[in-house]
Amino acid sequence: MTSLTRADWEQRAKTLKIEGRAFIHGEYRAAASGATFECISPVDGRMLVEVASCDQADAELAVQDARQTFDSGIWSRLAPVKRKDVMIRFADLIDQHAEELALLETLDMGKPISDALGIDVSSAARSIRWSGEAIDKIYDEVAATPHNELGLVTREPIGVVAAIVPWNFPLLMSCWKLGPALSTGNSVILKPSEKSPLTAIRLAQLAIEAGIPAGVLNVLPGYGHTVGKALALHMDVDTLVFTGSTKIAKQLMIYAGESNMKRVWLEAGGKSPNIVFADAPDLQAAAEAAAGAIAFNQGEVCTAGSRLLVENSIKAMFVPMVVEAIKAWKPGNPLDPATNVGALVDTTQMNNVLSYIQAGHDEGATLVAGGKQVLQETGGTYVEPTIFDGVNNAMRIAREEIFGPVLSVIGFESAEEAVQIANDTPYGLAAAVWTSNLSKAHLTAKALRAGSVWVNQYDGGDMTAPFGGFKQSGNGRDKSLHAFDKYTELKATWIKL
Ligand code: NAD
Repeated sequence: MTSLTRADWEQRAKTLKIEGRAFIHGEYRAAASGATFECISPVDGRMLVEVASCDQADAELAVQDARQTFDSGIWSRLAPVKRKDVMIRFADLIDQHAEELALLETLDMGKPISDALGIDVSSAARSIRWSGEAIDKIYDEVAATPHNELGLVTREPIGVVAAIVPWNFPLLMSCWKLGPALSTGNSVILKPSEKSPLTAIRLAQLAIEAGIPAGVLNVLPGYGHTVGKALALHMDVDTLVFTGSTKIAKQLMIYAGESNMKRVWLEAGGKSPNIVFADAPDLQAAAEAAAGAIAFNQGEVCTAGSRLLVENSIKAMFVPMVVEAIKAWKPGNPLDPATNVGALVDTTQMNNVLSYIQAGHDEGATLVAGGKQVLQETGGTYVEPTIFDGVNNAMRIAREEIFGPVLSVIGFESAEEAVQIANDTPYGLAAAVWTSNLSKAHLTAKALRAGSVWVNQYDGGDMTAPFGGFKQSGNGRDKSLHAFDKYTELKATWIKL
C-alpha cells in the first residue's frame, strides 16, 4: 500500500513525463510514417500524449532488427545464469519504478491506483523475476537410447516472438509473455493495445537499463488492423503469442495459416461460472467473493465471474447478500487510494457495457443492483457494478463476454444441472464452486471444462500455476514452467557412438 494521497497522485500526474514513441533497437523513435494517435485518459477525458501509430514499415524494421539480434547470439546464446541475472535486474527496476508505472497504468486505462500499484506492477515484477530465476534450473533430457547411440532432447529458443496484448492488465499481460520469452533467449516485439500503450513503452527503456541488449525487446504501439496484422502475417516471425478477444484470436490463426505457419498461442475471452451450492461453508464469504468477481478491475477481467449460478433452495436469501456486498464496490476517482472501482477503458467500451445492460432489460432479466453510468461530470467513463437476477443461460448477457461490471444470476436445482449450465458456453477459462462437501467439490471441479477451477474462493493462483483456457478461451498456458513450452522448440539430436 502507498502512503500517497489523491492530491499527491494528481500532482504527480501533472508533472509526469510520458513517452509515446515506439522503441526499436534500444531507441525511442517516431513511427516511420510519422503518424500518431491521441492517448485519452478515461479518468477524466484528458489527452495524455500523442502515441506513435506504427504500421507495416515499423513492423518490418522491428522484425529485421529482432532477427539480427537473435542470430547474433548476444542474448540467445548467453549462458542461462547470465540471462537470469539480467532478468532479475529487470524485475528490480520495475519494482523501483512501481509508482511511476502504476500512475501511467491508471491514467491510461482507468483502473484504481491501489490496484495498479498493489496488484499489476508488483505481479508484473514477480512474473519477470520468477521466469528469470527458473531459467538456470531447467535441465534437458537424454533419451533411452541403445548403448552405441546418444539421443539428446533439448529445448532451444524459437527465435522472433511477436506478443500482442490487451488493455485490461497492460503491464501484467506484457510481463506474462516477456518473462518466459526473454528468459529462454528469444527476441521479442511487443505490441500493446492502442487503448493502453504507455506502460509497455516505458518498460522497453527499463529493459535496456537492466542489460537486455538493444533489439531483444522492441515495442510497437499502434492499431491491431495495421501493425498487429503486419506482425501476425510476417514471414519472419516464428511465434505469435496473444492475449485478447476470441474474435481476434481466431483471426490470428488465419493469418498464421496464410503466412508462415508461425506458432500461435492464444489467451482469449471468458464467461466464467461461479457455482454456489446450498452447502457452501460460508455464504457471506461466497457473496462477497461473487461481488468482487464481477466488480474488480471494473469487470474488465478475462476470468470475471460473470455468471453466478445459485442453488434454488438458497437463491432468495443469497442474492440479497450479493446485492449488499456489491455496495462496497463504488466507482470513484481512480487516483484516490480508497477507490476500488475505476473508469472503463474508453467511451466505446462504456457504451458497449451500457448496451448489454439494456439487452438485459430487453430480454426480461430483473435488475437488482446498479445499471447506470455515473460520475459524468468528471468527463470520465464510469458504470455502476450491476446485477441482473432471473437470467437464463440463453440470454445475451449470459452468453456473450461483456467485459464490464455486469453480473448474471442464474438458478439451478441439482449439481448435474449446475455443471450443464456452467459448461454451456463457448468459453472455458475459469470456474468456481462453493460447497463443504469434499466429493461434490472434486466431482464438480473435474466436470467443469475450464483451465482454472477454484473451490471455496474466487481468482486464486500465482506464478507457480499455469493459466489459460479450454475451448474458445485459447490454447497453451501462461505462467509456471508450462509457459516455457510456447517459447522453445524441442530438438532431438542423435549421435552415433
Ligand atoms: P482485442 O482482441 O480487441 O485486442 C487485443 C490485441 O489485439 C490488441 O493489442 C489489439 O490491437 C490487437 N488486434 C486487434 N485486431 C488485430 C488484428 N486484426 N491483427 C492483429 N492484432 C490485432 O482484445 P481487448 O479488447 O484488447 O482485450 C479484451 C479481451 O482480452 C477480452 O476478450 C478478454 O477476455 C481477453 N483477455 C484474456 C486473458 C487471458 O489470459 N485469457 C487475459 C486478459 C484479457
